[in-house]
Amino acid sequence: MNKSTLEAIWPAKGKFASITWQVSDVCNYKCSYCNPGNFGANHKNLQTEIYIDNLRSMVSQFKANGYESFRFFFSGGEPTVWKPFIPILKYIREEIPGALVAVNTNLSKPLDWWVENHTLFNDIVASFHVEFCDKENYLKNMEYLQDKMDYLVCRLLMHDERFLEVVDFSTLLKEKLQNYTIEYAALMEALSPHSEMHYYKDEWKREFLKKNNLEEQKILAKKSDVPLAKPSYCEEHYTDGSIIGHNSNRVVSESQNNFTGWKCWINDAIFITPSGDVRIASCDMGKIVGNINNPGVKFTSQPVICNQARCNCGTDIGIRKAAKTFSLAQGEI
Ligand code: SF4
Ligand code: SF4
Repeated sequence: MNKSTLEAIWPAKGKFASITWQVSDVCNYKCSYCNPGNFGANHKNLQTEIYIDNLRSMVSQFKANGYESFRFFFSGGEPTVWKPFIPILKYIREEIPGALVAVNTNLSKPLDWWVENHTLFNDIVASFHVEFCDKENYLKNMEYLQDKMDYLVCRLLMHDERFLEVVDFSTLLKEKLQNYTIEYAALMEALSPHSEMHYYKDEWKREFLKKNNLEEQKILAKKSDVPLAKPSYCEEHYTDGSIIGHNSNRVVSESQNNFTGWKCWINDAIFITPSGDVRIASCDMGKIVGNINNPGVKFTSQPVICNQARCNCGTDIGIRKAAKTFSLAQGEI
């Protein structure tokens, strides 16, 4: 391994259980680089009571296995247009104190929605989709949220033909916002967990993406009534001893997402697909253990030694994992 090789993706402050939920395939956008699996509206998933019962049962199963911290990450489709969303978030806030709640949203809801509901979230990934986004609304929401969340990122999807327009919007965000984290996300072919990265024919675009994956500025102090979450996040450990906050986008853009032979704690993670399948991880090393639309989801699983050529889904990349050489994992291996 050379000096700056990734050696582990490891919890910063103790293990945590992670539930990633692609809540439905309903979206108010229809981006050209997306696929009907994310906007086809075949799986509306509207059985709120069953979902809450299943969540309650999954959380107790994790607790029985020694997990005390919980991280929920909602995506879609577009989660903010999903009817059960607010009741489920309220259940989490009421019954799982200290849970970290994150959402990937296109930020299309108007400002008053965010004013009313922002305390239900700790982290917001605000994806910017140039073909459909109302830029004024996006900016207004960002101005409101910029000093309220534990983590807030503008995730700019780098549309190939409208690349410069996205870069211009990034400049506008940097002019108008005092706090920002801006991520430039290369497109995947037909946005799905296991697809390949889109190939940009223009060299300057490839260069841009190589040089720019994250820009940050923090001027305003956080002032917020968002409940405190127990630390539920991973860090990247490199062979030269450096440790940085985990970012799947960077790991992919630096081609460090080959974990063949690593130990991967897929048992830390539940992944719920738009059709409701409840999986242990989303890769082929995982398995389906039930469906969120049916009561009584039960699961058991163990860590695995990864035999996949590449780990492509951001959520899977964020699961605790370590190469054989990583000393912190020795007690666990
Ligand atoms: S990329 Fe996101 S916002 Fe666009 S259609 Fe797909 S799910 Fe909706
Ligand atoms: S592909 Fe699966 S087993 Fe391999 S590192 Fe990713 S999540 Fe873990």
